[in-house]
Amino acid sequence: MTQEATKNPTEYKSWMCLICGWIYSEAAGVPDEGIAPGTKWEDVPMNWTCPECGARKDDFEMVQV
Ligand SMILES: [Zn+2]
Repeated sequence: MTQEATKNPTEYKSWMCLICGWIYSEAAGVPDEGIAPGTKWEDVPMNWTCPECGARKDDFEMVQV
């Protein structure tokens, strides 16, 4: 398990909240929530919740944009 392997800027994904449809973009992050642009989904804190409805990460699903 090396950390360097995760830093490929072409592999950003988006994740959608299954409750309200809000989309988290790894490339954009959520600066207002303290999530810097480029933050990978797995690096988003486990206790982070959807800014719209409060759903947890478990309620998000990867989507193609
Ligand atoms: Zn939501």
